[in-house]
Amino acid sequence: MTVEARNLNEIQGCRTTKIYCRNGCPAGKRMKPRNRVYFQSREEARTDGYRACKVCKPDAPPVEPETFILTHYQSPLGTYIILGSKQGIVCVEPEEQVENRIDRWQHDSIQIEEGESEDTLLVSSELDGYFAGRLFSFNLPLDLRGTPFQRQVWQQLQGIPYGETISYGDLAHSIGWDNAARPVGGAVGRNPVSIIVPCHRVIGSNGNLTGYGGGLRRKEALLNLEANARDKTN
Ligand SMILES: [Zn+2]
Repeated sequence: MTVEARNLNEIQGCRTTKIYCRNGCPAGKRMKPRNRVYFQSREEARTDGYRACKVCKPDAPPVEPETFILTHYQSPLGTYIILGSKQGIVCVEPEEQVENRIDRWQHDSIQIEEGESEDTLLVSSELDGYFAGRLFSFNLPLDLRGTPFQRQVWQQLQGIPYGETISYGDLAHSIGWDNAARPVGGAVGRNPVSIIVPCHRVIGSNGNLTGYGGGLRRKEALLNLEANARDKTN
């Protein structure tokens, strides 16, 4: 194990635990520098009696980086960013708000590629119908990335009928989380697929619109659009 070897290999081990890691493993980073050893290969590490780390799995084939397709959508309420994975739509958000989410995904090694996919085109055309007041429910493959609790809340949001509203408290009650209006509200606020997962239909118990990630102006406009379109069909 020479100094030059450091540049050539990606495998490092810990003298005390006898575990070897990929370079950059979060578990490996905690290793004390004086215990760190470098290997030319995994074979060399194993020959020296080291075991593979269970966190970074240095023996597993490298994971293909995931790519999200990014499309711009011009709506009457400004530009929205649509992001789609191989499984479905992961994000629909006003352009000026999407940056943090994209940063987090890129930090998780997800690549963002501008373009169009079958799914993002479908979103654009369904949004056209929605903003024209002639589409009342979306039929799109969604790929909602969040905690199990968040996904449970987002699932419930999809059951709120077009043109209707529900309070945060009632929403919490409907999923059996009474007295949890605040965490439920937090999950509503982090909904990644706005409009289609209709978090704009959740309002305060006093009838106030309260908060909205996309801004109250947009929330009000969406609710007005739905109320008007519904009145026309009645
Ligand atoms: Zn590791």
